[in-house]
Amino acid sequence: MSESRSEISQLGEFGLINRISKNFTLQNTSSVKGIGDDAAVIDAGNDYLLLSTDMLVEGIHFDLSYMPLQHLGYKAVAVNVSDIAAMNGKAEQITVSIALTNRFSVEAVDALYEGIKAACANYKVDLVGGDTTSSMSGLVISISVTGRVKKDKVAYRSGAQVNDIICVTGDLGAAFMGLQVLVREKEVFMTDPNMQPDLEKFEYIVSRQLKPEARTEIIFDLEEAGVKPTSMIDVSDGLASELFHIGSQSGLGVRIFEDKVPVDQLTFQTAVDFNLDPITCALNGGEDYELLFTIAQSDYEKIKNHPDIHSIGYMHDKKDQNLMISKQGTLVPLRAQGWDHFAG
Ligand code: ADP
Ligand code: MG
Repeated sequence: MSESRSEISQLGEFGLINRISKNFTLQNTSSVKGIGDDAAVIDAGNDYLLLSTDMLVEGIHFDLSYMPLQHLGYKAVAVNVSDIAAMNGKAEQITVSIALTNRFSVEAVDALYEGIKAACANYKVDLVGGDTTSSMSGLVISISVTGRVKKDKVAYRSGAQVNDIICVTGDLGAAFMGLQVLVREKEVFMTDPNMQPDLEKFEYIVSRQLKPEARTEIIFDLEEAGVKPTSMIDVSDGLASELFHIGSQSGLGVRIFEDKVPVDQLTFQTAVDFNLDPITCALNGGEDYELLFTIAQSDYEKIKNHPDIHSIGYMHDKKDQNLMISKQGTLVPLRAQGWDHFAG
């Protein structure tokens, strides 16, 4: 008898996660929020404990020919801390699990942990455990992070209200363009090893790819301004994809303005030079690790002068209607491409 077989690529990453999560119900009253947000939320008495995990796999998430191990260690921590920030929380502890092939030396592991240490110092998180094992096919690094947030301060993806203002920090698309530059320089090097990569003029976008930072200071700034975001997510898969999460989980639609989406000048110019549309890079590039959040209109005054927070649109009541108003004034439906590691 032949068993039926379905391809994971047909479901996609989000489809697969939905399929897994629908078979599980929460059994403990302390499990406040399970699968579906940037971090799980656990009742820890006075505060909520936040818990999240992210895995980076060689050949899928990074290429060691252009990713120095120190940077990889730093990035693996930063992307986890970012998920805690996305709940409006502060990260406290990490565990680090690594699977190594015999290609890696002790010095290589030292370099990886130098980066982890630098990130721990910068984000004031403690390395408290992990696991070490071997791998047949490349390096795997999996980090879990805990964090804490006051119960009345937690920000879910699902809390946006009609007419809330959509804000995003920093600028978008730079990490993606940084990656395009690194891939191109690698190809040049492979054809002619005498060619030295010229990365200096791309420093900003390359560093956005190799050494992203979690926007932990924004959490403090919002608190100081007396603003609690109604919803929040970090931009790992791309602005469009994250807008879809906020919209669908809040039961609303989103409307953003193309000319409000922050794109750095070097990102813009590099995209044009690569024959790519800068706004598409900003919408779908991913790995920006900026914070995307919504605020009540009445809070706008409190953040409008923040140099790194940009209002880009608003929430509206037409569920699943996610639109961008282009520079020409036309309505463009947003497409949530994101990264699909399972795409065939
Ligand atoms: P993020 O991009 O913020 O890290 P993901 O898109 O990776 O979030 O995951 C979305 C949600 O699905 C999270 O709540 C995550 O914990 C959960 N999740 C992802 N993979 C699995 C899995 N294999 N089993 C259970 N939950 C998962
Ligand atoms: Mg996230």
